[in-house]
Amino acid sequence: MYIDPHVHMVSRTTDDYQRMALAGCVAITEPAFWAGYDRSSPAGFFDYFRQLTDFEPKRAAQYGIRHHTWLCINPKEAEDPVFAREVIALIPQFLKCENVLGIGEIGLNKNSRNELEILDAHLALAAEHDLMVLVHTPHLEDKLKGTKLIMDAIRNHARLDPGRVLIDHVEEHTVRHVLDRGFWAGMTLYPDTKCTPQRAVDIFEMHGTERLWINSAGDWGNSDPLAVPKAQIEMKSRGHTLESVKKVSFDNPMKFLSQSGRFRIA
Ligand SMILES: [Zn+2]
Repeated sequence: MYIDPHVHMVSRTTDDYQRMALAGCVAITEPAFWAGYDRSSPAGFFDYFRQLTDFEPKRAAQYGIRHHTWLCINPKEAEDPVFAREVIALIPQFLKCENVLGIGEIGLNKNSRNELEILDAHLALAAEHDLMVLVHTPHLEDKLKGTKLIMDAIRNHARLDPGRVLIDHVEEHTVRHVLDRGFWAGMTLYPDTKCTPQRAVDIFEMHGTERLWINSAGDWGNSDPLAVPKAQIEMKSRGHTLESVKKVSFDNPMKFLSQSGRFRIA
């Protein structure tokens, strides 16, 4: 049994749902993200939020998987602050939907000034409504710098408890910074680029399993919705106990997500 706490199911087929269910997936959370193209109007986001809060939970339920979501305008489309603020203004009306856990995946892409302004607007919304936060961190050489900028921005909001914020896409050089500041950390598993299941298990062996989870981030690119069960196999093959396998793939996401009061596995 496992939870995939970060997977973009709007871009996956029903075959993927079936394979995930067969591999033991009981619940997922789906952050709002870039669609592969920039939306031409805020109405495009309104429809996307309806898909995430209405249609996708029903699709998942057909396979016995509980679907939850996080709402935001992703950093890639946050370069135009006027446009981005119009999208953020749409979010409060969706907060009453029972599968919405919080704001995400917000963060930075190119670490630009406009992205930082919109990150801050999202954090203010989360603080105002006492919501949990899921954070995307930039890739490659900007990752450490971006991660530090994001953590500083969160610290400016005294009402946001780092224990209710998860910083995703951590790697070897960022995981310690995130955990030491009291945040939760997520490792995104990709088949070849970024963090592979093997690298993720190396990171568990180096840094322990406290406040750390794994996810597939399955999307429309080269990604693998079965990455979490593959990491479970990697852990077992290296002699890790069933208890620690369960901890990272089920207990930890359960503990973090349950703070929302809305997370369910059945
Ligand atoms: Zn994502």
